[in-house]
Amino acid sequence: MSSISPEVDVAIVGAGFAGMYQLQRARAAGLTARVIERGSDVGGTWYWNRYPGARCDIPSLEYSYQFDDELQQEWEWQERYAPQPEILSYANHVADRFDLRDDISFNTSVTGARFADGHWLITTDSDLAVSAQFLVMATGCLSSTNVPDFPGLDTFTGPVYHTGKWPHDPVDFQGHRVGVIGTGSSGIQSIPIIAEQAASLTVFQRTANYAIPAHNEALDPERQADVKSRYSDFRAANRTMSSAFGAEFPQNDAAAMSVSESERFQQYEDAWRAGGLPFLRSFNDLALDAEANETAAEFVRSKIRQVVKDPATAELLSPKQTIGCKRLCVDSGYFETFNRDTVSLVDVSSEPISHFTSNGVVVGDTEFEFDAVVLATGFDAMTGSLLAMDIRGTDGVTLQEAWAEGPKNYLGLTIAGFPNLFTVTGPGSPSVLTNMMVSIEQHVDFITDTIEALRSQGLATIEATTEAQEEWVSHVNGIADLTLFTTCNSWYLGANVPGKKRVFMPLLGFPGYVKKCDEVVANGYEGFVLT
Ligand SMILES: Cc1cc2nc3c(=O)[nH]c(=O)nc-3n(C[C@H](O)[C@H](O)[C@H](O)COP(=O)(O)OP(=O)(O)OC[C@H]3O[C@@H](n4cnc5c(N)ncnc54)[C@H](O)[C@@H]3O)c2cc1C
Repeated sequence: MSSISPEVDVAIVGAGFAGMYQLQRARAAGLTARVIERGSDVGGTWYWNRYPGARCDIPSLEYSYQFDDELQQEWEWQERYAPQPEILSYANHVADRFDLRDDISFNTSVTGARFADGHWLITTDSDLAVSAQFLVMATGCLSSTNVPDFPGLDTFTGPVYHTGKWPHDPVDFQGHRVGVIGTGSSGIQSIPIIAEQAASLTVFQRTANYAIPAHNEALDPERQADVKSRYSDFRAANRTMSSAFGAEFPQNDAAAMSVSESERFQQYEDAWRAGGLPFLRSFNDLALDAEANETAAEFVRSKIRQVVKDPATAELLSPKQTIGCKRLCVDSGYFETFNRDTVSLVDVSSEPISHFTSNGVVVGDTEFEFDAVVLATGFDAMTGSLLAMDIRGTDGVTLQEAWAEGPKNYLGLTIAGFPNLFTVTGPGSPSVLTNMMVSIEQHVDFITDTIEALRSQGLATIEATTEAQEEWVSHVNGIADLTLFTTCNSWYLGANVPGKKRVFMPLLGFPGYVKKCDEVVANGYEGFVLT
C-alpha cells in the first residue's frame, strides 16, 4: 500500500532532457508537477551511457537547450562534439540553475499508470504513488537496453557491461582480454578507446556499419562567440532543416547521377573532410534512389579499404546495406583500430554466438576466452520503456493491447483511448531522425501550451480520435515507404529485438511536422476530442 499520494497537475516520468524541460515549463505555466526518475540523478541518456568514447554526434553548439537565452549564453562548450561527461555536467548545471531536483523523485521506477475518474494514478516500485490530471512520458527513445538472450550469459565469471548501463566508476581494461559484442554507434565509439587499454580486444560483428569521421576538436572560442552573438538566428536556421540541425551544411540540391563521376567523387570527398552526419546531404536522392545511394556507400567502402591494412578485415568491415537506412555512425579512429595487432574481428552474421561459458564466448567450434565482455547491443528503441510499464487507459485497455500491431498514436504525442497522456518524442514523431534537443523542446512546448489552452477554456481532458490516429499512422508509414529507410534491418524498424513488430517508427521531416502541429492547434485541436 502506498504511503504517499501527492496530487499534482502534471506527472512526468523521466528526468532526461525531456523531463527536465517539461518540469521547467510546467512550473513556468503555474502547474504543479512531480518527476519520477529511475536513476539517482538527472541527465537520462547521459547519466546511463558512461561508456568510454560516448559523445554526441550533433555539434555541441546545437545539442543544447534554446528555451533560455541566459542559459545558452553562459554555458561554454569545450569540444565540437561534446563527450558524455560534459553533457552530463550541462544537465546538472541546468538542474541546479532552475532548482529542478526539488520536484524530482530519484531512484524510483514507474511500474504502472491507470486512468480513472479524469485522473492518472501512477504507481512505482517504491511507496510513492502520484495522482495527476496529466501524465507526460519523458521516458526516452533509447533508454531500454537490449540484452540478447545469450544462453549461459549468467555463467560467465568475468564482468559483463552494457554500454547503456555503464558503471559510474571508470572501468579499467588495462591488461585484460576484452570481447565487445555489437558494432552500432556505441560499439563504434567505444572500441577505439577500449582497444587502447586492453591486452587484446575481440569484436563480434553481426552487421558492418557505415561511419563518417567526426574530426572532433577543441571548439574554437571565436567560433563559439560568433554563434552566441547570433544564437536565435542560428537556431531558427537549424529548425528549417529536415533533421533540425546543421544549416551550415545544407542539402546539395543535385541528384547523384546527374553529375559526372569526378564531380560526385569530389562532393563526397568534401563531405568526408567536413565529417559527421551531413555526409548524407551530399546529394538530394541518397535516401530515395538505390543507384544514387550505392555511389555514396561505395565511396565509404573505398575509404575503409584505404585505412584497414588487412584486405579480409577491410572486406568484413565494409557494409553492404543501403547507407543511412541504419543510423549513420560518426567515428573517431574506428576503422584504424583494426590495424592494431591486439584487435581482431569475428563475423557472427552467418554463424551467431551460440552461448557463453564461464570463460567466454563460443562461436561454432571456437571458444574465445575473456576477462570482461562489453555488450554494445543497443536498445529496444522508441517503444521499449513505454511498454515496460503497465499503462491502462479508458476501460482498462493496456498499452500492450493498443499497440499489439505496432505503435499507433496521433502526432507521435497522444494515443486514442489514453486521455491526457502525452509521449515526448514518441514513435510517429521526428525524434531520432533529428537533433533530439530541438524535437524535445517542440514537444514539451506543444504539451504545455495544450494544457494551458484546456485550462483557459475550462476543459479537463484531451484525447486523440481513432480516425486521426489511423490517418497519422498511414501518413508516417507512407512517407517512410517512399524512401530507402525500410530496406534494411534497423532499430528504426524494431528489427534488432526478436518478436518486435516491424514498423518504421520515426517520422521523416521536422519542419513539415511542426507545420502540422501548428495547424492542428490553429484548427481548434483538430483530430482530438476535448471535454
Ligand atoms: C549513446 C547515445 C548517444 C546519443 N547521441 C545523440 C546525439 O548526438 N544527438 C541526438 O540528438 N540524440 C542523441 N541520442 C539520443 C538521446 O537519447 C536524446 O538526445 C536525449 O538525450 C533524450 O532525452 P530524453 O529525456 O527524451 O530521454 P532519456 O535521456 O533517455 O531520459 C529518459 C529517462 O527516463 C527514465 N525512465 C524510463 N523509464 C522509466 C520508468 N519506468 N520509471 C522511471 N524512470 C524511467 C530513464 O531512466 C531516463 O533517465 C543519443 C542516445 C544515446 C543512447
